[in-house]
Order: sequence, then structure tokens, then C-alpha cells
Amino acid sequence: MTAEPRIHPTAEVSPAAVIGPGASVWHHAQVRERASIGAGSIIGKGVYVGAGVAIGANCKVQNYSCVYEGNTLEDGVFVGPEVVFTNDRYPRAINPDGTLKGASDWELSGSVVRYGAAIGARSVILPGLTIGRWALVAAGSVVTRDVPDHALVAGNPARQVGWACVCARPLASDLRCPACHRAYRLAGEGAPILEPIPATEPA
Ligand SMILES: [Zn+2]
Repeated sequence: MTAEPRIHPTAEVSPAAVIGPGASVWHHAQVRERASIGAGSIIGKGVYVGAGVAIGANCKVQNYSCVYEGNTLEDGVFVGPEVVFTNDRYPRAINPDGTLKGASDWELSGSVVRYGAAIGARSVILPGLTIGRWALVAAGSVVTRDVPDHALVAGNPARQVGWACVCARPLASDLRCPACHRAYRLAGEGAPILEPIPATEPA
């Protein structure tokens, strides 16, 4: 038996959207046509989910965030309040001749937020980016380029200031988590990739 989604009476959910079992859509949220919300996810008050946006299972999208068309959230993604996911790299209301731009006059370009990542309150995500698994974007960041897995980024433009554990705490300089004591190591050629050291291996 699967739990019915909970949709608040003031939410506006398109009949052409798919809301997974056990998901919640709270007051005054709008979920557009062809959008999908995965099982167990929570869509907060006043959130906007654009046409065709895919949000995975067990995500939390906090109040008043805007996930515009073209963006994708994988499973387990946290989005703090008032985050904006943009979708137009070269925004203009009008064409060079002054006429209003129509749907065919601009190029849609969204970002992907991968499994377990978290976006802090009031951040802005530019189009066409990948925010890696378990990455952590500090509150108020403006993300203008890809964020590696487990990276902790902050500022405008957002720059990497460290690494984040799966529990979201910043790692110490020895790549151990001071809170949960998980251990990590850097791997990969060129740009470093953080990977967990399995508990069965000595750190
Ligand atoms: Zn930890």
C-alpha cells in the first residue's frame, strides 16, 4: 500500500503533474504541467516548480524557492528557502528590435543537482551547471560554475572553500569529519575527487 500525496487545498498542482506517494505540497505552492515530484518529497509554502521540472524522491524544497523549467533535482536534495534556479543564460525581455521575446526567442538551459546535495537559503543557481553529489552550497551563494561532489562552496561568485561530509559538516584538513568521524581521501587525475574511505579499510 502506498501513501497518497498530501496536497494543501491552496496549492495549485497541474493535473498534468505527477506527485509521488507520500509527497507533500504545501500552502500556495505551484506545480506546473509535466513536472514530477518523487516519493516522500516535501514542497514548501509558496514554492514554484516549473513545467517539466523533475524533482526526485526524498527532497526538501523550502518555502518560496523557485525551480524554473529546465532544472532537475535528483533524489535526496535539500533546497533552502528562497533559492532561485534560473534557466536563461542571456536574459532579455525583448529582441534587439524591441519586440517582446516569445518562447522560441530564447534558449532554455537548466542545471542538475545530484544526489544528496544541499543548497543554502537565498542562493542563486545559474543555468547549465551540475552541482555534485553531497555538495554543500552555503547560504546566499551565487553559483556560476559546476560544483564537484562533496565540495563546500560559498560566496558570489561561489568558490570552493572546503569539503562537506555526507552529514553536511565541513571536513577537517585530514579529510575526516569532526562530527561523525567518517574518513575521506582525494583521488582522480587533475581536479581532485573526494571519495569515502570504507570503514573496513584503515584511514
Ligand atoms: Zn560527518
